[in-house]
Amino acid sequence: MPGIADITDSLARGLETVQTRTEEFLFEPVIRLGVTGLSRSGKTVFITSLVANLLAPGRMVQLRAAADGRLLRAYLQPQPNDAVARFAYEDHMAALRATPPRWPESTRAISALRLSLQVRPTGFLTGFTGPRTVHLDIVDYPGEWLLDLPLLNQSFAEWSESALALARAEGRAEAAAPFLSALGQAAPLAELDEPQAQALTAAFKDYLAAARAAGFSGCAPGRFLMPGELEGSPALTFCPLPKPETRPKGDSLYAAFERRFEAYKRIVVKPFFREHFARIDRQIVLVDALGAISAGPRAVEDLRVAMADILHAFRPGRNTWLSRILTSRVERIAFAATKADHLHHSQHAALAHIMQALVADARDRAAFKGARTESFALAALRATVEETVSHQGESLDCVRGVLEQTGREAALYPGVLPEDPAALLAPAREGRAEWLEGDFDAMRFAPPELALKPGEGPPHIRLDRALEFLIGDRLL
Ligand code: GDP
Repeated sequence: MPGIADITDSLARGLETVQTRTEEFLFEPVIRLGVTGLSRSGKTVFITSLVANLLAPGRMVQLRAAADGRLLRAYLQPQPNDAVARFAYEDHMAALRATPPRWPESTRAISALRLSLQVRPTGFLTGFTGPRTVHLDIVDYPGEWLLDLPLLNQSFAEWSESALALARAEGRAEAAAPFLSALGQAAPLAELDEPQAQALTAAFKDYLAAARAAGFSGCAPGRFLMPGELEGSPALTFCPLPKPETRPKGDSLYAAFERRFEAYKRIVVKPFFREHFARIDRQIVLVDALGAISAGPRAVEDLRVAMADILHAFRPGRNTWLSRILTSRVERIAFAATKADHLHHSQHAALAHIMQALVADARDRAAFKGARTESFALAALRATVEETVSHQGESLDCVRGVLEQTGREAALYPGVLPEDPAALLAPAREGRAEWLEGDFDAMRFAPPELALKPGEGPPHIRLDRALEFLIGDRLL
């Protein structure tokens, strides 16, 4: 049964939507494009390069409106939602244009940007109407926040049980050891001692951060790593606790954490889904698949599970809290393995297949039908050039770029991705600690020097194709 608050939520949302939709239909349509992915998946670089490449679309040949010369002009507008920070496009471009160029600062919270596109309509309408304006509202938010959706259906005891089982799982032991030992010292039934509660929470957050750094993706609650504006608040000061044998008193640590867990859901998780997520109509999910592959099979399996949780947000079951508040339906979802410039193009198809396989399970589930989905291997900002090097009589397809650690230029051979994704996903599911054959090296290249010709944005790989899939139909 929906609660009163849920019903008022959906009524309010419904009214607002009818109004905005009518305005949009009569005047200028708005496309709300969500850009998400776990931290360091490449959201900031993606949006920065996307905007620069729409402002100067010379390299966007796979975007039909640009190739046909119908994209007449693109310009930035004030961000229409006063409650959300503006995506710092100019700062990010300035970092990329600095000498030497720097990668921009990564996403830490939600932000948005409005880019307006002036397009000449095609076909039948061409002779009757002048150019029309389509607003592209780009909403950048941490993928970690989507991982919070399952918490809404869990009690504190249920969540604690699964979170503690995950912390004790093989592969995470090293990252979790200090937290588990601090937990061993804690007395959940004793009276709440705030400094102790904070120390325990800090140990839990350190564990999540260490697991993330080791390549693991499932690190809920999402705000613990990406707190946004709520850093240090009581709603973010709790951690999983083993269920006590006896009923905890109201002033105990356990009861306090249980209340805070509920507060987290009410004041952190629900407002994000209601106010931001529910309004998105096109979505791109960025995935650092190469990063997970180089971290090993356990990281790949963890990524697969996290992707399933993320996808769940886009197709919630009927009559769940989320399905009741969704006002727009996500019609298209692109899954993109980022940083494809770490590979020679001969391996891009294999990377796109791996991306597809990572989301296949979740996508095939009946509940997920309805949206069009496609997988891509892309680089929002190409930092390398290709080079074939001969090594011990063999020719190796390498990529050349400036290495971030040393500032020196080098040609690197990352290893070979298997043609069949099962060769990676099967050992990952079996829980192996290492790949059987060959390792895949993690790489970090410095951003390229941007010497852009007039009318051209930064170099990229398949950014235009992904955008054509996402919004091409709305620019006709
Ligand atoms: P966010 O946390 O999702 O906002 O991730 P960022 O956009 O800040 O990207 C994280 C890091 O990934 C950057 O600092 C770069 O080192 C790297 N990166 C992102 N996109 C690309 C790309 O297209 N090519 C390369 N070579 N590296 C990238």
